[in-house]
Order: sequence, then C-alpha cells, then structure tokens
Amino acid sequence: MSYLLYHCLNNHKFLVKDTDQKDGMSCIECSSYSCPTGYLFREGNTWVDKYPIYKPNKKPLFTITLDDWDSVPIVRFEGEEIENKSRVTFDWETDTLDKKSKPFIRLEHSSASDGKSIKKVEYNQQL
Ligand SMILES: [Zn+2]
Repeated sequence: MSYLLYHCLNNHKFLVKDTDQKDGMSCIECSSYSCPTGYLFREGNTWVDKYPIYKPNKKPLFTITLDDWDSVPIVRFEGEEIENKSRVTFDWETDTLDKKSKPFIRLEHSSASDGKSIKKVEYNQQL
C-alpha cells in the first residue's frame, strides 16, 4: 500500500491512500487548496518519500506574471519585485549532449519612476 503526501497552501501535510486520491483535494485541516508533493511507501519498517514532487517552502528564483497582453509584466527575482522596468528578456532552451542549458535573464530597470539611471542586470549571459 502506498500514500500520496499532500501539502496545502498553509503548509499542512496529510496522507491520502493512492486508491482514494482524486483531483481537487482540499486540506483536511483548513480546507484550502492542496496538491500532492510526494509518494510514500513502506520499505521494511520505514516510510520512504520516494518521489518528492516539489518543495513547498522554496521560493521561486524568478517569476514573470503577465495578466493581459497590454499589461506590464510583474517580475520577481529571488522574491523581490523589480520596479520601474523598461525591458524584460527571458530565454531558455533544452539541454543538448554537449551543452547544459540555463535560462538567460536580462532585466532593465531604473531606481526612479522617471526612467533615469537605467540599470541592466544579466544572469547567465549567453556566449
Ligand atoms: Zn491546510
């Protein structure tokens, strides 16, 4: 017998028998949205979390949120929102045999809302 390990938005954890699992399960403590984050099964006398799906406490490194085609993208790097953006570039491609790929990120923004003193920040600059 195995179980799915669920986490909710408030970081409660609970186990659901894999045969009882269904889409859209709510937290048994606070009823908020929850999703499976691991797969537990018994190995001897211990439960093993064999396939951790994601780490709920880890903040994303980089997010771009675009609400609409005409809206200004909301950009967060290491949890901090980038204000007064003038350009946002994100490029990623899959790994190849001879090259391990990392995303390329370029942000142009200023510290003042009048757009003066534009700062360019690049991560993993392409060669
Ligand atoms: Zn909860």
